[in-house]
Amino acid sequence: MQCRDAQFYLRLRRPTGDELGADVTADLDRHLAGCPICAPEARVADSFDRSVATAMRSVPVPASLRDKLLAQASTHQGTVIRGKIYRVAALAASLLVFAGIGFGVFTASRPKIDPDQWAMDTDEDVQNPDAALSKWLTKQKLPAQLPLPFNTDLLMMKGTDNIQGVDVPVVVFRHPTEFGFAKVYIFRADGSVNLTKLRDTNASHTAVTVIESPQHRGVKYVILHTFHPVHDGENPLKPFLRPPGERASL
Ligand SMILES: [Zn+2]
Repeated sequence: MQCRDAQFYLRLRRPTGDELGADVTADLDRHLAGCPICAPEARVADSFDRSVATAMRSVPVPASLRDKLLAQASTHQGTVIRGKIYRVAALAASLLVFAGIGFGVFTASRPKIDPDQWAMDTDEDVQNPDAALSKWLTKQKLPAQLPLPFNTDLLMMKGTDNIQGVDVPVVVFRHPTEFGFAKVYIFRADGSVNLTKLRDTNASHTAVTVIESPQHRGVKYVILHTFHPVHDGENPLKPFLRPPGERASL
C-alpha cells in the first residue's frame, strides 16, 4: 500500500468499525507499522477517536428525553420500535457530545501548533541539515553525531517510532535515485529495551545493520535499510552516505 492510499483509508477508519474490510485493514496496518510518515498520523487519529469515545461514555442522555422516549416505547410495546428509539436516543446523545464536549476535550488536551516556529524549524532543516540534525540529537540526549557520515541532503524525517511499546528516536534517509530508505533507530542501552537479540540480518530487499561503537557509548544504532545491488565488499549503506571528501556543512 502506498502512503497516499494509507492516508485515505486512515481518514475513513473508526476504532470500532470494520467498514474497510479485513483485507484493507490488514494492508493498512502493515503499512502503518513500517511507515514513519503515516504512523504518527495514525496515532493522532487514534487519540482523537479515543477522546471522543471517552467523552461519549461520560455524558448521560438527558433524563427528560429518556423518559419521553421510554414512555413512547412502552405505549407501542414493540421491542423493534423500542430498539429503534434507543438507537435514536444514542444518536442524539452522540451528536450532542460530538458537537460540544467531545471536541472540547480533544482540543483542550492537544498541544497548540505555532506555524511561525514550525516554519523556522523547517527552514533550518533545509538550510543547514547537518546542524539541525545534531541539534535534534542533542535535544534527545543522544550523541550529537550518527556513527556513519549519512548524507543529510537525503534526510526525510527525524522523530520517534513506537516499537513494541517503547518510543525510539529514528532518523530516516531516502535513497538518492531509487525507491529506498535507511531508517536509523537509536536505542538507549539503559535497560528499557532488551537489545541482546539485535544483530545484522538480511532479507532479499531489506537488511538490518547494528552499530555499536566506543565513540557512541550508551546507545545502539539499528539501521533498517533497503538493499540495493552494490559491488563486492562495498558497504550496502553507501548510497545513503556522504561521498568521501565532501564535507558536512557544520
Ligand atoms: Zn506511509
